[in-house]
Amino acid sequence: MTKYSTLGYQAAQERESAQISLVLTWLSLAAILTLIGIGAKAWSSAHYSHAFALWGFILPVAANMAWFAIYRNRDVQKTGLLVTVSFLFTYLIASGGESNTGPLWFYVFPPLVFFLTNLKTGTLILLLVYLVAIIVFQFPGLPFVQAEYSSDFKLRFFATLTFESIFCFVLEASRLKARNELLDLALTHEHAAKTDELTGLSNRRDILNRLSEEFSRYQRTGHHFSIVLIDLDLFKNINDHYGHSAGDAALKQFAIVVQSVIRQTDVAARWGGEEFLLLLPDTSLIPALTLAERLRSEVARENFSFQGQDLPITISAGVCSISQADSIDNMLRQADLHLYSAKEAGRNRIAPRVRSQAADTQNAPSA
Ligand code: GH3
Ligand code: MG
Ligand code: MG
Repeated sequence: MTKYSTLGYQAAQERESAQISLVLTWLSLAAILTLIGIGAKAWSSAHYSHAFALWGFILPVAANMAWFAIYRNRDVQKTGLLVTVSFLFTYLIASGGESNTGPLWFYVFPPLVFFLTNLKTGTLILLLVYLVAIIVFQFPGLPFVQAEYSSDFKLRFFATLTFESIFCFVLEASRLKARNELLDLALTHEHAAKTDELTGLSNRRDILNRLSEEFSRYQRTGHHFSIVLIDLDLFKNINDHYGHSAGDAALKQFAIVVQSVIRQTDVAARWGGEEFLLLLPDTSLIPALTLAERLRSEVARENFSFQGQDLPITISAGVCSISQADSIDNMLRQADLHLYSAKEAGRNRIAPRVRSQAADTQNAPSA
């Protein structure tokens, strides 16, 4: 699992576990109806204690459902159901159920256990279930054991249960393998759809989505955010003098500098060609200008080089905060106008200029 896909992987696991919870709720409901039904059947055959025992198991199943409805704890829901079912099946095999058919319910166990747990835990639980079955079969004199089974039945019971368990294990293992491969493939595609191939930064599509998410957050919470539109100065000259590969290397190196300057919550994207866009959440205009200025000076100081040749790289940028605009389009337009004025003013600078910043950078070398 690659690092970039960890978040997507977690989201997929969350979706899967929510789905399992839903299935378990329906399964619990089906178990309650089945218990009512076979309990009634036992009652009509005058097996009153057996009927009461079966109906008694409805209580923990219903309690487990209620607990989950209140606390939404999926682990408790799974464990609760597994423990109840384990006790129910132990009771059925020990009592024999009706006409010694109780052990037949054991066949539900292998698929259920692999569905609810993983392969390792599932195998361990199954081994435990085997142990219970062996104890019941071998020691019919034990106080809680009321049923006795023929040797033929025991042999066939174990043979078929083992066959079913192995079959379920193999099916689950191949399902997991296919599921993981598919998930990896989906996440790789998702990553590629959001990423600029050359720099590894977000691409235009991704940053536009994030901008609109940030704008919705601003409308909900009033949290300000800013953008910085960056353009590499006289980049055509870099390509012309040092070659296109040198230009590509400079773009990659610039991406690394950007990532070292911005915060973890900021997003840097390749807007197109030699233009980049930063999204700075929870940032008003002055801190955004300060960050842009720090980036400008870091880039001016950085030693960009390609195959032993130094590349003269500087940037100009236009900054805009949401407090100065009423939409994303308007923000981008204003940042673009500021970028244009930074270029007009001689490049290697940030616009708009605040008083203290203008004093700091008035001697900044122009490209
Ligand atoms: P200014 O300071 O006004 O922005 O001048 P400029 O030369 O950077 O502007 P212009 O828009 O004339 O040129 C941009 C150049 O960036 C031209 C284009 O070939 C180059 N460029 C765009 N994308 C890439 C890329 O992916 N790799 C390389 N090597 N060059 C690129
Ligand atoms: Mg440009
Ligand atoms: Mg340029």
